Amino acid sequence: MKFEVLILGSNSALPAHGRHPSSQVINYNDHLYLVDCGEGTQMRMSYFQVKRSRIQQIFISHLHGDHIFGLPGLLTSYILNGRTQALSVYGPEGLRRFIEVTLNLSAIQMPFELFIFEIDASQVQMIFSDDNLSVTTIPLNHRIPTCGYLFQEVRKVYHILPEAAEKFGVDYTFYETLKRGENVQLKNGVYINHKLLTRPPRPCRSFAYCSDTAYDPSIVVHLKNIDLLYHEATFSKEMGEQASKRYHSTTHEAAMIARSAEVKKLTIGHFSSRYVDVGFLEKEAREIFSESYLALEGQTFEI
Ligand SMILES: [Zn+2]
Ligand SMILES: [Zn+2]
Repeated sequence: MKFEVLILGSNSALPAHGRHPSSQVINYNDHLYLVDCGEGTQMRMSYFQVKRSRIQQIFISHLHGDHIFGLPGLLTSYILNGRTQALSVYGPEGLRRFIEVTLNLSAIQMPFELFIFEIDASQVQMIFSDDNLSVTTIPLNHRIPTCGYLFQEVRKVYHILPEAAEKFGVDYTFYETLKRGENVQLKNGVYINHKLLTRPPRPCRSFAYCSDTAYDPSIVVHLKNIDLLYHEATFSKEMGEQASKRYHSTTHEAAMIARSAEVKKLTIGHFSSRYVDVGFLEKEAREIFSESYLALEGQTFEI
């Protein structure tokens, strides 16, 4: 089952050096979920051929412009493209006012249902779940209410052992039942425990998005052993003081969070525009956590 993250934008604050403000698309089995929607997100979607009509949920980390100023444009494009499918947008308090004021001032009538969910960014809570993923908020330490999001796979598919199925005379019509981990009863009345015919599902995969935030080890407990962590690293390792004053993190701080949480892989982004080339930031992060990678635009991370 596909579970991947495409980086659309990973620059901080403003577009610079060919980089764009924050946005990512999570693709789970061709269901798309948008995380943050900075200026230029639509252009990046077109460039990377993202089928934006497939997005049904948008998760906004906070109301700083580099994470949300692309949203009004995206909503109006949906209207122009004749969208009829409902759309849900999640984000901290103020999200509703931001969307309603923008749309009202532009005299825009929504032809589809737009659900706006304001969440308490100071709480850890599951805010969404469907057949694919559950989404839990992670309180972050930033200048305004900000939350990260933990995306966890919910589907558990048991793997069928074809040889065992054949041996017990279980044909393909029972496969969907077995994949759900349910026992089967054959037409002759024989009852077979699914454990004889399947092997257990692999552990559920997970991805967390943590931007923007000052270094805050209290989030580690929510990130334990996840597969992929996106953590902002706005500044290089020497700029700890400036990072903390601005409620941002350095490369070393992002890597320390990854190391403490024992995540499998770290990707860093939200790069300061002061850096024309960001390659050295990856090297810095690897001084602390070897499985560190730049979140470069257009890059897909498989989870
Ligand atoms: Zn930002
Ligand atoms: Zn911010």
